[in-house]
Amino acid sequence: MKCAIVTGASRGIGKAIAIGLAKDGFQIVVNYLNNERKALETVAECEVYGVKAIAVQANVSDYEACRQLVSKAKETFGSIDVLVNNAGITKDNLLLRMKPEDFTNVIDANLTSAFHMMSFVTPIMLKQRSGRIINISSVVGIYGNKGQMNYAASKAGLIGMTKSAAKEIGVRGITVNAVAPGFIQTEMTDVLGDTFKETIIQNTALKCLGEAEDIANAVSFLASEKARYITGQVIQVDGGLSL
Ligand code: NAD
Repeated sequence: MKCAIVTGASRGIGKAIAIGLAKDGFQIVVNYLNNERKALETVAECEVYGVKAIAVQANVSDYEACRQLVSKAKETFGSIDVLVNNAGITKDNLLLRMKPEDFTNVIDANLTSAFHMMSFVTPIMLKQRSGRIINISSVVGIYGNKGQMNYAASKAGLIGMTKSAAKEIGVRGITVNAVAPGFIQTEMTDVLGDTFKETIIQNTALKCLGEAEDIANAVSFLASEKARYITGQVIQVDGGLSL
């Protein structure tokens, strides 16, 4: 049975991705930062689909922690077939008010983390001569957003990383793609005011916010055999926000 690692999978989009891949028959490594109870809930919801899942604590901003996370996954399931770099944070502020640590923390959690995970997973996939890497970017990484310079830089960086890795490792049958969500209803976006949400809805062709499952469905497709010939791409799942 194939194995998928999903970072930051105790809630929100990561949780929906883990459950979606479990439905597709993958054994799941649910990575979490600090909420073990919620991570175990994700594990239980994955196992409903008859696959084995484990929760592994790791701060993906930390290189050594990623080494241990990947080795735990390999030791438990024997292969790593899919890596979804989903973990992410926001620390929004206008450029003139942004503290240096708010910039570097966001880059570390959203971008450097993906480099860490890909560093340890890629050698395994190269040996297997197969694999799927899916990076969760954002429309903000493509179009920018006021007050999110740090976040936009991290998400744009993920796109550059996706395309470069696709060129480097495609020769061994490994695909690397990014999904760029628009505004999706999760705890990350719960903090935004109703007026802001209404503006987003009005600017979205489909006139509604997205659900975590909308992102999970795109990830399931990219992880599947049907997406065999797609690599280095950024799929926007944003209800037409960017049109
Ligand atoms: P969320 O805050 O609900 O979930 C993010 C998860 O990542 C949390 O469980 C958190 O603990 C985990 N995490 C953060 N830093 C980590 C670290 N260093 N190590 C391990 N885990 C860590 O947010 P979400 O809305 O589910 O977002 C998931 C991803 O989708 C993020 O990368 C986010 O940037 C991206 N995204 C979300 C939206 C949206 O509208 N919600 C839009 C575009 C992109």
